[in-house]
Amino acid sequence: GGGGSGKAELQRARIRLSLQEHLWAFFHERVAIPSEEQAVARRAALDICAELRFFLHAKLPDMPLREMYLSGSLYDDLQVVTADHAQLMVPMILEKNLWSSIPGEETIMNVPGFWLVRRENLEYFPRGSSYWDRCIVGGYLSPKSVLEVFEKLVAGSINWPAIGSVLDYIIRPVVPSETLTLEVQYETDRRLYVDFLPLLVMEDGVSLIAKPHRLAAERHENLWRESFRVTETTKLRALDQEDGGCRCACLKVVKAVCKLNPALARLNASQLTNTILLLSEQEGDWTQEALADRFMQLLRALVGHLEAGRLPCIRNLKVNLFCELTPQEIDELGYTLYCALSDPESLLRT
Ligand code: GDP
Repeated sequence: GGGGSGKAELQRARIRLSLQEHLWAFFHERVAIPSEEQAVARRAALDICAELRFFLHAKLPDMPLREMYLSGSLYDDLQVVTADHAQLMVPMILEKNLWSSIPGEETIMNVPGFWLVRRENLEYFPRGSSYWDRCIVGGYLSPKSVLEVFEKLVAGSINWPAIGSVLDYIIRPVVPSETLTLEVQYETDRRLYVDFLPLLVMEDGVSLIAKPHRLAAERHENLWRESFRVTETTKLRALDQEDGGCRCACLKVVKAVCKLNPALARLNASQLTNTILLLSEQEGDWTQEALADRFMQLLRALVGHLEAGRLPCIRNLKVNLFCELTPQEIDELGYTLYCALSDPESLLRT
């Protein structure tokens, strides 16, 4: 007897659980992050943010930036599995009359959801009138060049070992990284990755981030990515608040599934949030008791969008949120999810 048979019994009991019960058990055991762990991670990110603010004010007082701030799922309780990443938003100030934004669909690249930022009025305000003129490539503000400016600073001229020892963390820039990332080891076995994310807020309220287009990098080098994150997550939260719904819980479960299954790692928070928002337009019952039904419906919706090769963004239907996946990646994701439709529990056994 003893523990062994008790364990086997527990195992058998669990197999008898319905999908609904499995999902909630998975939610509590694997998805949700203990609040203490979240607090420590937030604290570490905040310490780094404070250091960087101090450094930039002291070293580069004329760099036109608004105050940096932290953001991401760690800050709106949508992070899952481990508290291991955050974004440090770096809002850049652009002179109104010197810059204009052009939507991606009006350029030869024809990519809705991305924008070009063009330098204007060079005849009256010659090159050098704006601090950010140093980041112009071919007449456009280059996100790559902006990232390089910050990279030189953050990776090159800040003494991270010294700052780390004061804060009692081990801090190092991650090289190479797609964006600019700091790795912060704040306990022997706990790491936090902080992405440095330069941000432009244009006059019409459009937010653009310096996160490069994943494919055809060179052709798309000057494109800024429109960020829909704030509206998406606000909308999701508001819907749940209206009806006490489980949309956020459903999102967290499916985010964890994608984080824990390598075959699904390519699906990101934005795509999953959008799919739930689209589903919310046609499906009204998001009560806690409906989690399993909505979860299955979400899987079917994702399979459908993948089959079509298109996931429209709820904010702008012209945007295809799958546009940075290759046809092969789309096929593989679709196949994995299609197989899961007949055995959804397999997604939770990780
Ligand atoms: P998670 O990383 O899967 O937990 O999802 P998040 O909701 O935190 O999304 C973070 C990702 O969204 C990062 O890859 C960011 O580059 C990207 N992103 C796009 N717009 C924004 C934004 O306005 N704020 C933040 N924090 N991230 C954004």
